[in-house]
Amino acid sequence: MSNTQRITRHEDGRDRVELNPIFSRPGEATMLPKFLFPEEESLQETAYQIVHDEMMLDGNARLNLATFVGTWMDDHASRLYLEAADKNMIDKDEYPQTAAIETRCWRMLADLWHAPDPANSIGTSTIGSSEACMLGGLALKRRWQHARRSAGEPTEKPNIVLSSAVQVCWEKFCNYFEVEPRYVPISEEHKVLDGHGLEKYVDENTIGVVAILGVTYTGMYEPVAAIAAALDRIQEATGIDVPIHVDGASGAMIAPFLQPDLEWDFRIERVASINTSGHKYGLVYPGLGWVVWRDITALPDDLIFRVSYLGGNMPTFALNFSRPGAQVLLQYYLFLRLGRTGFHAVQQSTQDVALYLSSEIAKIPAFELWNDGSDIPVFAWRLRDGYTQNWNLYHLSERLRMKGWLVPAYPMPADLVDITVQRIVVRNGFSHDLAFSFLADLREAVAYLDALEGPLPAEGQHSGFHH
Ligand SMILES: *Cc1c(COP(=O)(O)O)cnc(C)c1O
Repeated sequence: MSNTQRITRHEDGRDRVELNPIFSRPGEATMLPKFLFPEEESLQETAYQIVHDEMMLDGNARLNLATFVGTWMDDHASRLYLEAADKNMIDKDEYPQTAAIETRCWRMLADLWHAPDPANSIGTSTIGSSEACMLGGLALKRRWQHARRSAGEPTEKPNIVLSSAVQVCWEKFCNYFEVEPRYVPISEEHKVLDGHGLEKYVDENTIGVVAILGVTYTGMYEPVAAIAAALDRIQEATGIDVPIHVDGASGAMIAPFLQPDLEWDFRIERVASINTSGHKYGLVYPGLGWVVWRDITALPDDLIFRVSYLGGNMPTFALNFSRPGAQVLLQYYLFLRLGRTGFHAVQQSTQDVALYLSSEIAKIPAFELWNDGSDIPVFAWRLRDGYTQNWNLYHLSERLRMKGWLVPAYPMPADLVDITVQRIVVRNGFSHDLAFSFLADLREAVAYLDALEGPLPAEGQHSGFHH
């Protein structure tokens, strides 16, 4: 627990933060309201100490095997972060150089993702992949509307086709921007959206198909080329031409380095846009995303706003207005610092750890791997059928939490909701050393559960955070 304060509940029912007398100065309040706006000032040291101590109650990010988001950068990055803390990404007038660097970054990504002519592509940074996906989806919707209107066709009922295993941001997109989601269920035979049966979902109101490079539930790649081939066949049969947006939140920063021959990006003509999270395998602190369109025709001009910029004007396409610019500079730093060889080395060592972990977990009789981490360094496993009635993966997740490890268990999406899996996301900083410790704790937890003489209660179990 924190050493300067205790959280107390007072008789009047208001919650306050109590300051340890060691830290209070004469005349200074030792109780601070927790939910009411404070009446008085406090000393800088006091306020600092309180916030600092509250933060200690957060988990240890190194032991968090649930999240994709980066939690470590080197000292030079930390220095830049402090120097750039005041930069506002939208203020291209005040920070033209940050704006120029943003452009360099998405042009580099266009290059990395094989845009036919990176100079003719267009892109932007965002606060994360969620915003980037919204922008990608909005561009698809607006393009479809333009095409329909110019053909004299109605535009009331746009739909988008996606796997039932999409990340929640796509449900948000459909809800907020009123596009009907057409979910293609996954199954044991079709573990990801692979183009199979796509003709049942696509029609003249389809604004696009989302292909996920690194499905959040399991880390598996959806075969973008196979999806594109299915759409080619649909176009031949019906004349309907449907573009693809690739949600590469994690995979778009893995595949270029670890699977350079895999065709998933702008090499496939149907791919209109790609997003990634700078703060996942882009290795930057949270809040940074990117979205790039293959060329300027893929992003309708009427979605773009022009802000004044040193006498000229700067096009912007964003949901936010003000937002931090520091992460963009950190991304640029990493692109310069690592280059292709450096990114390859970092991602490869992360994948080596994932493959080692999955191979060890596969040897434990209780488990059956769902996948092994050879796409992005993420994999999932389930309890072997008929292995035990005494415990399940939620119990295991709780046991691991006692050792500080966050390893979520959760049900798979439609049509596999009866299957529970547990997943590990290996990120930069999760070393072989930590992997050894984790495996020791995992084996111990399984041994404990296996030794139970009767079933553990299963009421009230809930899935862990796994986005
Ligand atoms: C994480 C993730 C998102 C959301 O990304 P944020 O950067 O957290 O907003 C979207 N799609 C996929 C496939 C993801 O893994």
